[in-house]
Amino acid sequence: MAEKSFKYIILGGGVSAGYAAKEFASQGVKPGELAVISKEAVAPYERPALSKGYLFPEGAARLPGFHCCVGSGGEKLLPESYKQKGIELILSTEIVKADLAAKSLVSAAGDVFKYETLIIATGSTVLRLTDFGVKGADSKNILYLREIDDADKVVEAIQAKKGGKAVVVGGGYIGLELSAALRINNFDVTMVFPEPWCMPRLFTADIAAFYETYYTNKGVKIIKGTVASGFTAHPNGEVNEVQLKDGRSLEADIVIVGVGAKPLTALFKGQVEEDKGGIKTDAFFKTSVPDVYAVGDVATFPLKMYGDMRRVEHVDHSRKSAEQAVKAIKAAEGGGAVEEYDYLPFFYSRSFDLSWQFYGDNVGDSVLFGDSNPSNPKPRFGAYWVQDGKVVGAFMEGGSGDENKALAKVAKARPAAESLDDLTKEGISFAAKI
Ligand code: FAD
Repeated sequence: MAEKSFKYIILGGGVSAGYAAKEFASQGVKPGELAVISKEAVAPYERPALSKGYLFPEGAARLPGFHCCVGSGGEKLLPESYKQKGIELILSTEIVKADLAAKSLVSAAGDVFKYETLIIATGSTVLRLTDFGVKGADSKNILYLREIDDADKVVEAIQAKKGGKAVVVGGGYIGLELSAALRINNFDVTMVFPEPWCMPRLFTADIAAFYETYYTNKGVKIIKGTVASGFTAHPNGEVNEVQLKDGRSLEADIVIVGVGAKPLTALFKGQVEEDKGGIKTDAFFKTSVPDVYAVGDVATFPLKMYGDMRRVEHVDHSRKSAEQAVKAIKAAEGGGAVEEYDYLPFFYSRSFDLSWQFYGDNVGDSVLFGDSNPSNPKPRFGAYWVQDGKVVGAFMEGGSGDENKALAKVAKARPAAESLDDLTKEGISFAAKI
């Protein structure tokens, strides 16, 4: 059992960790000052690739192709880059105990890591059907997707069950992206989710109708309003059937479950203030404990433009919050300060030939614009959300780079909207005027 001391430790090896390391490197760290500790076996990478390019039947994305920070056009930090920059990358190391008062972390192997400043970047973990006691949920080939090991299991199952039957449980973005990936791999795919339409946390019924019809046209079957209530398996333990609560059952060679995630805060329970299920921070990602910061999925931070505390589980925020925390740490060391984090929520997804972006808040009334006919070869449509007479959120499928920039601008500026009808008529040109 070893003991090592660092000035800074980033706990976690995901997106936030990669962007925090990049920011430290660009500000300058002395060799041996900074360590990144991750339970994953690989250096930080752009997690969204796992449900997209990683699953392509041909030309699939593989490491080192998508290490951080290529997702935002930044320098790619290869495993060896960390060493070159004086950063110690400690992989395959799970921290099982954190003592924030003593400023120490203990790994599963019993190694002790001391720090002066800690950045918590532990991200989220998937919710498992076994957690809810669903019968047979521990059968083989019932798969989840969070880390690269999970993605490798999905790839292995796709190869082992070529052209078989897949059931995707969950209608969020993971469910939609995985259904598309399995369909592209020639699986007979059925999606099952309890809500009246897909992506209900963001999509309106109108937006969802487009995606559901598009998916149906691609051959994906969609079963709504029910849940997987149990699974049966072959004698070898591999899943072969999904039972639905409404009494139906579906044959399955592979089941992919995407029913949500929860932030990994358990190590710090009782030691740090929490809010809305995450670790509470200020606008510099400082927690209630001195010298401890929390970034990415685990942080509940002040979302300045809405005067609200929020937790955001999207990649753009994980990058920006990590950069903000490191900038704040470095500025404070020099006796200075940085501006408060003033985040505009941004989220995107891609599947089949589709690609959408969303900026702002999806509250209030919504209107659709453009051509949302799913049979058109190049669908291009959008939506605005209007609250108290102001446009507060903007969404677009198939937008160009400039159009997506316009969406961001409109969601940030929150201009007054005369009428919902006018917004529908003006469409993207309303945003382009801002
Ligand atoms: P993570 O990237 O999850 O990193 C957490 C890291 O901490 C992991 O390496 C983990 O192993 C490590 N860790 C946790 N606990 C410990 C411990 N005790 N000891 C050591 N290491 C530990 N967002 C979008 O906006 N658009 C998308 O298209 C999109 N696609 C996604 C696709 C997938 C498959 C997934 C899973 C997420 C996707 N997201 C997307 C969300 C986005 O990837 C996350 O919001 C982002 O990764 C959060 O970054 P993070 O650093 O907080 O957490």
